[in-house]
Parts: sequence; C-alpha cells; structure tokens
Amino acid sequence: MRTMRLFGCAAIAAAVVTLCAFAQQAPNVNIDPGPQINVDGYSYTQQQLFQRNIGGPNEQTTQFPPHKIIGNLYYVGTASLASFVLVTPQGNILIDSTYERNVPVIQKSVEQLGFKFSDTKILLGSHAHADHMEGDALVKQLTGAQVMAMAEDVPALEAMKPGGKTHPIDRVLHDGDEVKLGGMTLVAHLTPGHTRGCTTWTMKVQDGGKSYNVVIIGSMGVNPGVKLVNNPDVPGIVDEFTRGFKTMRSLPCDVPLGSHPGMYHMQEKYAKLKQGGANPFIDPAGYKIEMDIDEAMFHAVLAQQKQQNGQ
Ligand SMILES: [Zn+2]
Repeated sequence: MRTMRLFGCAAIAAAVVTLCAFAQQAPNVNIDPGPQINVDGYSYTQQQLFQRNIGGPNEQTTQFPPHKIIGNLYYVGTASLASFVLVTPQGNILIDSTYERNVPVIQKSVEQLGFKFSDTKILLGSHAHADHMEGDALVKQLTGAQVMAMAEDVPALEAMKPGGKTHPIDRVLHDGDEVKLGGMTLVAHLTPGHTRGCTTWTMKVQDGGKSYNVVIIGSMGVNPGVKLVNNPDVPGIVDEFTRGFKTMRSLPCDVPLGSHPGMYHMQEKYAKLKQGGANPFIDPAGYKIEMDIDEAMFHAVLAQQKQQNGQ
C-alpha cells in the first residue's frame, strides 16, 4: 500500500501545529494519527489529511506565486491557505482573507498580477475559522469591500475579533444565494459539518471559448479532536456533515479548488502549468477523489468514536 501523496505542506510533521486556527498542539511524537482510510490506492490517516491541508507555520504565511487558474480567476494565497480573486470589469471579488497577518501578502499577490487591491468590491469566505476569515476586518478597512457570510457561520464570525476589531458582515447569505458582480455569478452552497455555515462556492468561468464549472470546496474535513458523537455544541453534527456531502456530490465540477490548496493538489498542478499543455486545474476526477477521501474519513472517524462510546 502506498502512503498518502506528499506535496509540500504535507511533509511537515514536527513543529507547532495550528489546529485549523482555534487550538494549538505541542510538538509531540505521540500525536494520535486517528483512523486510516484507503482511497484510490493511497492510504491516509486523519492526522495526515489535516497536515496536508494546513501545512506548517511557514507555509501558512509564505506567499505562493500568484497565478491564473482559469479565465478571470486567480490564486493569491499562501502555500497552505488559499485565497482567490475573481476579476470583473466592475471590480473584484476576493474569497478568503485568511489570517489577518496574511492580508499584506494577498495584497502583494493581487498587485503582482497587475490588479488593484482597492478594486476589491466584495469579500466572501469559506468558513468561520481564523485561518480563512480572520483578515476580513482589515480587508474591509483597506478596500471598503462588502463582506458577506453564511447565516449559520455568523455567530462564530462575530466571536472572531483580531485586535478587538468587530467582524464586518454587510450581507447575510443563505443556502443557494447568488452573489453577482460584473457579469459573474457565484452561488453560495451551505456545506456544513466542518463549521455550521461552511460555504462551498460555485461559479461558471469562461476560458478559450468554453465554460467551466468551478467548485471551491469550503472544507469537508474532520479535524483531529472534533467530536462527532456526543458533541454538546453541535448535537446534530453528523446530520450536518451528511447534508454537506450530499450537496458536494450534487455539484457539477470541472475545476476543483479548495480553502486549502492541498485539497486540490495545487503545488503539483502549478508545476504542470509551467510546463505548458492542457490546463492542469481542469480535474473533474480529482474532485470526486477528494470527496471520496473526505467522506471515507468522516465515516472512519464516526465509527471509531461510536466504538469508543460503546455504541
Ligand atoms: Zn477550518
């Protein structure tokens, strides 16, 4: 059995691990790897998938070369925290501000692509964890962008106050709501579980005379330590994840993207991009495999916790 695919951030094993932004784990060889799954000929533990996504501290803050993904959609995030900019004639839409300390990195990336950060008219988010949406207040301060967030994530966002700043929310979104700007339409899909208002964004992007379905995966990962059984804060968390997977499976996808670049193997695809040829970001099979991985891990974690709870 091959072990999991290792790209960039996944290779970081030691050092301090930020638990998707709300807890810290000491560097410790005794970290519980969690259950292991096998999908498409590769094996993954829960801890490996988590690491693949969040990367190490440096990768969370180091600029990844900004690049065009497809059509008018560009990558402006760090090596392990995704941020996307959609460029339209009426201004730009930014998806995920990431950590507040990364906002200058994102601004630099937007400008290196030849666009103006001040043209950011709308700021969207993937889910209410600090590594994806902590920088919202600063982005609004710098650009005046309208900040929009899924209703079910609003309480968690209101508790996110870097430097005491109130989290801006100009429009509260609901499942299926559309966000329009400059001829582009983005659809907000509620894909809960990872957070209560976790949002997967879809849009149609034109490139070379063709239309492509883009899906930005909010996250369907079960972080280490998350209770699926007897969760006092979210008693219906299993139902919420189940709803999330059902929605994810219903979305047509040509170009899978995600709130962490590891979800769509950005580094490997970016390397291919530089070699020329077909656009490596067009990867419908990759979307299906990622959902297979996430769903298999969800069921493995649930089975383990049920067993531990004598169910
Ligand atoms: Zn998260």
